[in-house]
Amino acid sequence: MDRRTFARRVAAAVPALAALASTARESRAQQGAPPAAPPAGRGQMDGSPVGDPLPGQKWRAHDRARPQPRKVVPGQPVPTPAAPSDAVVLFDGKDLSGWTTDKGAPAGWLVRDGYMEVVKKTGSIQTKQGFGSSQLHVEWMAPSPAVGSDQDRGNSGVFLMNTYEVQVLDSYGSKTYADGSAAAIYGQYPPLVNACRKPGEWQTYDIVFHAPRFDDRGGLVSPARLTVFHNGVLVQDNEELTGPTGHKVRPPYKAHPDKMPLGLQDHGHPVRYRNIWVRELK
Ligand code: MG
Repeated sequence: MDRRTFARRVAAAVPALAALASTARESRAQQGAPPAAPPAGRGQMDGSPVGDPLPGQKWRAHDRARPQPRKVVPGQPVPTPAAPSDAVVLFDGKDLSGWTTDKGAPAGWLVRDGYMEVVKKTGSIQTKQGFGSSQLHVEWMAPSPAVGSDQDRGNSGVFLMNTYEVQVLDSYGSKTYADGSAAAIYGQYPPLVNACRKPGEWQTYDIVFHAPRFDDRGGLVSPARLTVFHNGVLVQDNEELTGPTGHKVRPPYKAHPDKMPLGLQDHGHPVRYRNIWVRELK
């Protein structure tokens, strides 16, 4: 479809998206009673509940009793917008010159046919350039045929400021704890709905990230906030992060620079990425 038709369709969809978000929020608020408080300390990955309490929520991190996100079939076609004129293109399909490992070595992921692919054990990668508050577009694909289950299936992650993870996972036909699903703010907020496409199909994340702000003494002035569209469907609606994302833990905020690299996770699975660009928000 042409640009104008596409814009009209997006505009027409916005009220519906907003209504969907508020309905989802209500249902989130009405979710059933939480399970009995677990014993002190952290439980097991296969147990429930398993992690730290989440402030303002009924659930503990990675709680398997937390309801699964409702499935939504995203619309077609997959939008693969070209970068706007003021965007910084982080990956144009040709090379990883803008990326390093977290130790500063050359990024070891495969580049082929316009995409990059995680190469197991070469390590997570990060941009050379730092970013703060920003609009980010990322396209990713879970491996096909799918291998594994739960967290061991198409796992990677988009790390804003190398600290705050929007989960990448094959959640199409595979369950995990809700706050570890695709498009979850890992360990904090499940997506409002499950808008996953099949493994082997390109998927989009459009992310609006507001960096946390700290005062001169390192105290938190305002928390990080995230809005995420997964395949064009609103899945995170301006959520306030409780701090850095973590596995089974809820670490407190720790003052960090205003700009930090964007990270992509090597979780040992050959997840692919393409068409990554960012617009800084002043
Ligand atoms: Mg991950």
